[in-house]
Amino acid sequence: MTLTDKDFNPQFKSEIAGMPGGEQVKRCYDCGTCTGACPASESGSGFDPRKILHMIKMGMKDQLLGSPTIWHCTHCDTCVFACPQNVRFSAVVDVLREMAVQQGYASGEGREKWGTAPCKATCPAHISIPGFVSAVAEGRYEEGLKLIKEEMPFPGICGRICPHPCEEECNRGKVDKPVAIEYLKRFLADGELTKGKAYIPDKKAPKKERVAVIGAGPAGLTAAYYLAIEGYGVTVFEKHPVAGGMMALGIPEFRLPRNILNAEIEVIRKLGVEIRLNVEIGKDTGFADLQRDYQAVFLGIGCQQAIKLGIPGEETFSGVVDGLEFLREINLGNPPASRGRLVIVGGGNTAVDCARTAMRLGYESVAILYRRTREEMPANSWEVEDTIEEEIEIRYLTLPVRILGENGKVTGVECVRMELGEPDQSGRRRPVRIEGSEFTIQADMVVAALGQTVDLRCLPRPLERTISNRGFLVADPQTGLTKAPLVFSGGDVVSGPRTVVEAIAFGKKAARSIDRVLRGEVARKDGAPQWKGIGYSPETVEKREREIMPRLSLTERKSTFEEVDRGFDDQQARCEAERCFRICGIQRERE
Ligand SMILES: Cc1cc2nc3c(=O)[nH]c(=O)nc-3n(C[C@H](O)[C@H](O)[C@H](O)COP(=O)(O)OP(=O)(O)OC[C@H]3O[C@@H](n4cnc5c(N)ncnc54)[C@H](O)[C@@H]3O)c2cc1C
Ligand code: SF4
Ligand code: SF4
Ligand code: SF4
Repeated sequence: MTLTDKDFNPQFKSEIAGMPGGEQVKRCYDCGTCTGACPASESGSGFDPRKILHMIKMGMKDQLLGSPTIWHCTHCDTCVFACPQNVRFSAVVDVLREMAVQQGYASGEGREKWGTAPCKATCPAHISIPGFVSAVAEGRYEEGLKLIKEEMPFPGICGRICPHPCEEECNRGKVDKPVAIEYLKRFLADGELTKGKAYIPDKKAPKKERVAVIGAGPAGLTAAYYLAIEGYGVTVFEKHPVAGGMMALGIPEFRLPRNILNAEIEVIRKLGVEIRLNVEIGKDTGFADLQRDYQAVFLGIGCQQAIKLGIPGEETFSGVVDGLEFLREINLGNPPASRGRLVIVGGGNTAVDCARTAMRLGYESVAILYRRTREEMPANSWEVEDTIEEEIEIRYLTLPVRILGENGKVTGVECVRMELGEPDQSGRRRPVRIEGSEFTIQADMVVAALGQTVDLRCLPRPLERTISNRGFLVADPQTGLTKAPLVFSGGDVVSGPRTVVEAIAFGKKAARSIDRVLRGEVARKDGAPQWKGIGYSPETVEKREREIMPRLSLTERKSTFEEVDRGFDDQQARCEAERCFRICGIQRERE
């Protein structure tokens, strides 16, 4: 094809440079390092990032926007740390795709799903996993950590306690075992901590608007992190004496050391966020005061209300506590004085965390009662394995029916044995009582760890009536918008009890919406791409053992709150990172 002057649009480059993210093209000096680093360009699809940048400079708008090539970038971000000019090519691709859809070059309705590696598509925070894993393999640790911190503020935390859904979808898992994405993230974060010099993201010029955040859990702190980066003044109000939400008050120290938690929260303070502890909104300060003094409010109050056992004796005898309170007091440095026979009721993460904590505190005996079998336990399977390994008794198919006591104090729990019947709505087999099977377990303390829900008393008046059927606050999951003007929300209060990384994702999306609304735009539901994980099964690939996480010995675990997982060393991290295929995510059907 012969190109004529008509095929060149001299405004094309400046049109791109004028859009958020598009300004990066100005830094490119055509060296081609991106193409050399790009796994997708090795795939035989003809994809070439340098060629795309060159076409932008040449003004070849029609040829580029109408071409399938702009849909081949997998947003792995491997080229970011290779580029000497630090150009984020994927941000330029975002602009090209947006223009292609808006200006009618690309078919399809609105934003289509964007092909990427399944690990990145599955991570709720959409971290550029192939990019940071490549950075580890090449020993470029600072660059790898920067990539993660663009998508979330808590790599050291999530590198320890995230249930790592990314690994479940990892293409390597089809060959042998998934890449240890979670542990590699932790490796990068720990390296920074050892050096004692935390990376603080650059901030944009200060803006005059201020945002109030209620709740210093992962949702609120993440919203604060991104809003501070955008240049807003942010104040976080937290009713407890420590920041971190359930990361500080629920998750025990042997899974998440507090120096890691505090170091990552400190970065948010260093970005200029003020965290006011011991201030309960609705009690110490009114919600209306915040609406008056701040231009927007983010509500991230989580699920603070424990579910009760609902059996006789629960309210009668002292010595019955809920799992959240039990862990909170220990995490705040106030463990129970007497440590006799402890019975914990429930099968979720809170139950196993209570049991493992109590074992370390030296209780005379610790037993978990669960009404179904191990298979149905909602706790993460690896947490259950750890509990069993630590020789904590779990009594399956056991239902407490009455708390027993004397002189106002708990003395035991009356239970019945259960058997599994037909599946219920959740698909798990329903536990059915075996008549006449009552028996008693002696106990000096009973912990009810049946889960938690939203404490409706914590909701501000304008939102009191906007509760879903499931008892959670109604807010748009994409934008965080609630029914009250300029009030946004996210995290457990909206989703019900979930995970830290999901709360982070909520906080990030809400910060983006708050920024848009405060700049006079509308909060857009389609503001972020919908990622589509693409499977990849190489025909020939050598099997390679996954690196094993070094752990504290069982004897040490029984008497100390020291972290159980010890972390990869340099060599392990690099070997593990080399197991990643890197090439995952190319969307071939657009060719
Ligand atoms: C025991 C336990 C173990 C867990 N383990 C894991 C795990 O291993 N991995 C994982 O991913 N997730 C885990 N989770 C879940 C995870 O911690 C939560 O999903 C996550 O913390 C929710 O974040 P959030 O910001 O929405 O709420 P939260 O973390 O609950 O934070 C809400 C904050 O708001 C504050 N607040 C509430 N009301 C007010 C008010 N009126 N004024 C001021 N402040 C207020 C609260 O004090 C709290 O600090 C665990 C949870 C528990 C309870
Ligand atoms: S596929 Fe990855 S390395 Fe290649 S251009 Fe896109 S973000 Fe860069
Ligand atoms: S945050 Fe969780 S899901 Fe995301 S990459 Fe890390 S371990 Fe995987
Ligand atoms: S092998 Fe593929 S899916 Fe697994 S971590 Fe690497 S890029 Fe992600």
